[in-house]
Amino acid sequence: MRFPAAHALRFFAFLCLASAIPGGAFADTIYLKNGRKITATHVVRENGQVSYETPAGKLSFPVSIVDRVVHDDSSPISVAGTPSDRAANLPIAPPNALAAPSNDAAANAAVRDGSIDIDLLSKLESEATANPTPTAVARVVAAESAAAQFEISVGDFDQAVAHYNAGLRFDPDSTGLLLEAAYLHLKRSEYSAAADLLDRARRIDPDSAEVAKLSGWAYYGLNRAADAVTQWKRAMELKPDAETQHALEKAERDAQEEAEYHEGGTTHFRLKYNGGAAPELAQEVLKTLESEFDEISATLKYVPPEPIGVILYTNQTFMDITRAPSWSGALNDGRIRVPVEGLSSMTDELARVLKHELTHSFVGQKTGGRCPVWLQEGLAQYMEGKRSRSNARYLSAAYEQHMEFSLLSYETSWLNLPRDAASNAYAWSLAVVETIMTVNGVDDLERILDRLAAGSSAEDAIRAVLHEDYSDLMLSTAQFLRKAYL
Ligand SMILES: [Zn+2]
Repeated sequence: MRFPAAHALRFFAFLCLASAIPGGAFADTIYLKNGRKITATHVVRENGQVSYETPAGKLSFPVSIVDRVVHDDSSPISVAGTPSDRAANLPIAPPNALAAPSNDAAANAAVRDGSIDIDLLSKLESEATANPTPTAVARVVAAESAAAQFEISVGDFDQAVAHYNAGLRFDPDSTGLLLEAAYLHLKRSEYSAAADLLDRARRIDPDSAEVAKLSGWAYYGLNRAADAVTQWKRAMELKPDAETQHALEKAERDAQEEAEYHEGGTTHFRLKYNGGAAPELAQEVLKTLESEFDEISATLKYVPPEPIGVILYTNQTFMDITRAPSWSGALNDGRIRVPVEGLSSMTDELARVLKHELTHSFVGQKTGGRCPVWLQEGLAQYMEGKRSRSNARYLSAAYEQHMEFSLLSYETSWLNLPRDAASNAYAWSLAVVETIMTVNGVDDLERILDRLAAGSSAEDAIRAVLHEDYSDLMLSTAQFLRKAYL
């Protein structure tokens, strides 16, 4: 979003708009008897189980392995992630196979006392290898699924994938496992991997609404809006629900408009632009994005798994399609959407806008959509080259008058902030990220992003890496601003 240059704080800002803003939920901590700690939301205790929400859906443990649950009413976190309903973060619930707590004895035995019983898993596997009866195979599938869900709950996604693969070796036709594994890939923006698994599931169960629903998501992530529309329409025929309807409407708007668009692409980008934009400009945008991709990738030590969608609009179509407020600039809702009306070649400002939005794509994908908005916007501004020099005096004075910014209140969507509050939020976010980058270094920043990806709340991630809570971090920021600029 762009603010008028005449404002006291002069900067351009590009907010990632959310068409579905997830409500904040409260973070709880489950302490297991074996010392392991799980950050979760919506922790509920019933029928001898403690169940909770994770990035992969609802999971549960037997009460017997839980030492205690600490409810933290003071730290709302956003379950569905932050700035947008980007493709990685479509508000689509896990498949039923995953959402239902399995009562299977093998599943319960596979994860015991807060860890996976590896011996039991190998015992079940050798039994199923020696004598692959349906019962023996079903036991392996249930146990591997439980083990995978446990790994997801503690943030080890690679191990989770390994467990799903192990289960699929025994039962390649288990649509439950295929759906669960596909869902995990979707949450990690690994759309090609998800689409492959879903193709397999569709061959086995062509009339599954769940398969069609998740396939739509995979295609949407792969920037194939028309294919996403086909799948989501199919899902609506088989079993209508509100989240599919919402996703379908969004994809239909995109597909209709983009049918008329020209296309271009490079290794890392899929670009679309309408007739109003000059083809030379489109080529320059791709070239600029590629070099910015390399820079951001080197800084954040991360390569997004899929090509990133970029759409260039004339101003009016931008407003129509994105439903963005008339004063907004570019936005990133999983695709980078940039109005380029009147431009025929690359400008410094457009290059900065692209780098800002591209940073959002990197951070969103790296954290699975779990990065708080203040950190997203601070990093995007930092990466586009902004620094706090011109804001330092104003921010320091605000800090001294105890009018500083509350990081906790700015973790979720900024969409409804009044203009002045948003200006202030952008300035503080930049100052905080600049402090972390300068005082602590980029390695610490990366570790914070890794912890967010693993499901940690933002303040917990900051505390674990920087050994500071939010108020300490604000103090460090005020000290940094004074030392660096005043
Ligand atoms: Zn932004």
